[in-house]
Amino acid sequence: MRILMVAPPGAGKGTQAERLAQHFGIEHLASGEMLRDELAAGSETGEKVRPYIDRGDLVPDELVLQLVLDRMLAAAERGGYVLDGFPRTLKQAHATDQAAADHQTAGGTDARLQAVVHLAVGRAELQRRMRARGDADGRSDDTAAVIAHRLEVYEAETEPLLDYYRDQDLLICVDGERSIDEVSRDLIAALDRAVVRQ
Ligand code: AMP
Repeated sequence: MRILMVAPPGAGKGTQAERLAQHFGIEHLASGEMLRDELAAGSETGEKVRPYIDRGDLVPDELVLQLVLDRMLAAAERGGYVLDGFPRTLKQAHATDQAAADHQTAGGTDARLQAVVHLAVGRAELQRRMRARGDADGRSDDTAAVIAHRLEVYEAETEPLLDYYRDQDLLICVDGERSIDEVSRDLIAALDRAVVRQ
């Protein structure tokens, strides 16, 4: 199974992606986690991306593509993936499609997305959840001003992906304003149906 989760920050994508990874026995690839690992390791990439993350801006596409694409193709070879937080721009989406097509041409397994899941959560609830997460985890980009900016960036850069994947008949929308268990149950049922249909 090869899945992408597209949702605003605070919608619960990380939690749900982890559950889907366990349920389907696939790898959870979270671009934000990979970037935070680079920050914590003090690597060259970490130093380059720090100012973007602290401001709540997107990191340049090239840096993220370098970090995620090879891991995505390797995970496809091992049975699948759930992408969490990547692609986040149309440029990243096009590069991901191209990388999957090139991988297959070169004799690799089919690495293309089979389903794209959107968790729908209203703005007030998102802000409430992110503030709670900032207090609990001490994430430097979960402060009030940065939260508001990250939501704006999501609407401008990432929301257009919904139409892009709807046009490819890959999009599944799920109400994310319910309990974690209810959302997981719906997601798994919808994904089972989507993949049977293919
Ligand atoms: P997340 O944990 O997914 O909320 O990501 C935290 C931060 O990492 C974001 O606010 C961005 O600064 C950066 N980031 C994560 N994924 C991407 C991506 N695909 N493209 C650009 N920046 C990203």
